[in-house]
Amino acid sequence: MKTLAVALGLVLVSVTLGISSERPERWKMRDKFHQMEAHRGCVVSKPDSLHDFDVLKYDLSISFDLVAQTLTGTTGVLIRSEVADLDSIFLHLVQLTVDSIWMTDRNLPFDHSAGVIEIGLDSTIPAGDTFQVNIAYQGHPAHEAWGGFWFTSKAAFNLGVGLNTDPPSMGRYWFPCYDVPNDKAEFDMSYTVPLGKVAVSNGILVDTIPDYPESTMTYVWSEHHPTSTYLVAVSISDYVVVPDSVYAWIYNYVYPEDSSKAVTSFRNVHRMMDAYETFFSPYHFDKFSFVETPKGDMEHQTCVSHYYLCINGGNNYDWLLAHELSHQWWGDWVTIADWRDIWLNEGFATYCEAIYQEYIGGWNAYHNYVVNSIMNYYLASGELFPIYDPQEMWGATSYEKGASVLHMLRHVITDSIFFDALNSYGDKYAYGNVVTPNFQAVCESVYGQDLDWFFDQWIYDWEYPKYVYSYWQSGVDTVRVVVTQEQTIGPVFVMPVDFRVGTSTGDTVVVGWVDESPESLTFAFEGANTDSFAFDPDDWILKLVRNEPGIAKRQNAYGRQGEKAHITVSPNPFARSIKLTLVSEMGTESEDAVSLYIYDITGQLVKTFHMGGDGEDSGEVPPGYCHTLVWDGKDDRGNGLPSGVYFCRFNSRHGSVSSKLVFLR
Ligand SMILES: [Zn+2]
Ligand SMILES: [Zn+2]
Repeated sequence: MKTLAVALGLVLVSVTLGISSERPERWKMRDKFHQMEAHRGCVVSKPDSLHDFDVLKYDLSISFDLVAQTLTGTTGVLIRSEVADLDSIFLHLVQLTVDSIWMTDRNLPFDHSAGVIEIGLDSTIPAGDTFQVNIAYQGHPAHEAWGGFWFTSKAAFNLGVGLNTDPPSMGRYWFPCYDVPNDKAEFDMSYTVPLGKVAVSNGILVDTIPDYPESTMTYVWSEHHPTSTYLVAVSISDYVVVPDSVYAWIYNYVYPEDSSKAVTSFRNVHRMMDAYETFFSPYHFDKFSFVETPKGDMEHQTCVSHYYLCINGGNNYDWLLAHELSHQWWGDWVTIADWRDIWLNEGFATYCEAIYQEYIGGWNAYHNYVVNSIMNYYLASGELFPIYDPQEMWGATSYEKGASVLHMLRHVITDSIFFDALNSYGDKYAYGNVVTPNFQAVCESVYGQDLDWFFDQWIYDWEYPKYVYSYWQSGVDTVRVVVTQEQTIGPVFVMPVDFRVGTSTGDTVVVGWVDESPESLTFAFEGANTDSFAFDPDDWILKLVRNEPGIAKRQNAYGRQGEKAHITVSPNPFARSIKLTLVSEMGTESEDAVSLYIYDITGQLVKTFHMGGDGEDSGEVPPGYCHTLVWDGKDDRGNGLPSGVYFCRFNSRHGSVSSKLVFLR
């Protein structure tokens, strides 16, 4: 879903105050869809622990009084017991008044308070048995700033999720239901509205029944694909139908005065449908409609609410249409089981905006969209918290960081495996519910390798990598790179990083596995050079990256901030060999070629290691330097040395450092 109305108000306020923003125009449009301040502190719902029954089907019969702004309804709930002796159930219903509840011909006792109806069943229902409970209710339905049920001068309609409401499920604002995303059910619905009004809902319109003495029309809709309660919707207005130009099963409902603008604004919907049917799978429902409504966009199953200001006769909101349409796969066909996994809905739909760009404009269009509209938007948001169980459910982390994770995953597991995995995930959880480990498991299964390292850091941990790198020509045919990570809250990220390196026959891209900080990489092959060097040239990683200027130019800077460097050794004591690592975080200068010297206890030099090896090193040690070598306890002539204490020493212009080694043969 995407929010617009209230956030648009915030934007207008800032304009009238004369606050200018230097954010790109493209981002300002996205800003409208994130209400950063309005719902800070929203606590995400915890998983349901009391699911001892399964709703199979809802029968909604609702009569709307648009003048009094009330509804009067009956909801039949077909339920299957999942426990041995089910003797009560609870359903959600907010604000509206329950008049009576019955099963066949028996009235049932109930208590309705704090948005929950507890219903005594009058007998125990064994596991597997089904029964129907009927609830008669009426009143003026409620809404919060965004979600809930609205009566406005243009339309009466609901939006199925709340922005400021915990949990966000808002089916309960207009019909009694077991209002969690993971109990999908079928829906039969009949809506009675004044003659001249049209009631649009999920699934297929199966009948329209006029009642001329009463001046009403009853619209009968049926959605026999499993549907989550938050994805059920009704919108009532004086709608006209604008058919799609290609597919008869795509038709949109708009206000009469917007019908010609809608022809243009919706003209690419069939191409979006083609895109997702090409990349994913054939559309999984019976019809598709955008339905014009006075507030923002919401991906109700087969009848997406679409904000009226976006039907403007142009196509600058195609990205929003593409986002919402893709939810029919990721959100509606495959639905989160738990709100903490919201990125499986919103990250996927945001990524699908880029998939649509790829479909119509190829790789460059995809790449530009991911970088400019998704990754840079997230990086500018300032959000650092994890994707899972996000501090802000409808923010840039769920949407743009989630989308960036899919972009990165596509590169890590490669293109064809990525789309195979997405479609296997869809097939496996078709019309069902998912949590993040379900998606990870399918990816691992198709990829054939563990992906804990990827999901742990990107989904469950904080922030993103902030790389600093140096590179230099280290002799003929050798390019060396040192990468450090300077993020403060997140972990050291483990990622395969693409580097562009020149060769004697042109540029090539080589992959370096960057999994520690500092990370030292050497690319050695014929003609290797730094002429066109680039870090992640195709922007596969969500990151900030900075190149420290070339080493030679940095000589004075090293002198100013130079350190002695330090040496780590292990194991110590050692019997066969010992690893010696020279590290300099800040960069320093060696007295001569960068070297480590081994002395015995009497001060006799017994072994010299030149780190460069080719005699051309001028002694500069760049920031993030980290070089490990192995000493086998032999002197420069290859003779084994006796057990005893030795010292490993490095001489920088800022002073010498040494470590004591204990050799036990
Ligand atoms: Zn969405
Ligand atoms: Zn169910």
